[in-house]
Amino acid sequence: MSGDRGRLRTAALALAFGLLTAAGLVLAAGPFPGRADAYTLHGFRWNRSVVGYSVDDARIQPYADNAMRLWSEPSMLRAEPGGSDIRIVVGALLAPILYERQPAQANVQHSDGWITACEVRLDPSSFFDLEEWARQAVLTHELGHCLGLDHSRLPSIMQSPYLYAFSDDDAAAMRSLYGQQQALGVRFRFVVLGLATSR
Ligand SMILES: [Zn+2]
Repeated sequence: MSGDRGRLRTAALALAFGLLTAAGLVLAAGPFPGRADAYTLHGFRWNRSVVGYSVDDARIQPYADNAMRLWSEPSMLRAEPGGSDIRIVVGALLAPILYERQPAQANVQHSDGWITACEVRLDPSSFFDLEEWARQAVLTHELGHCLGLDHSRLPSIMQSPYLYAFSDDDAAAMRSLYGQQQALGVRFRFVVLGLATSR
């Protein structure tokens, strides 16, 4: 009986020691080293704060609206439906096609470091063969390219070509490109200044 109790105490101590060691290792390593720099950028961005986008197929509109809302929310960039800066078209992909049954591609045009136009092409068969969540993910990914983001090595990030989930790193990338969303007062001042200068 006392032997059992002894073994139990030893086991409890070993467990406590193990937990403390694990906690120490986590603290020493930091939660996710390097995550703040996980995203990568093309080196280009739009030189304006409002970017318009349009679709040539009504089936695409909800996906486009969701994606542009996700991308624009963290930063000062505003996405305006109906504009023609970014065109999303359903049609055969252009060369180079990177892999078989590639569902989509983004063709980013730029000049002097600024993005001047972007066309996202969605393959009429392989894009619509995807499940709904994957269509959303693929279009969001391609629109990320249209806003200046490149692929990332980390799998937990929207811009990874392997797994899609919008993350803090994607938001950080947008803020670094288009500025931090300011407090309400600051935005209000911008509006007043805009009205004053437009007269
Ligand atoms: Zn990509």
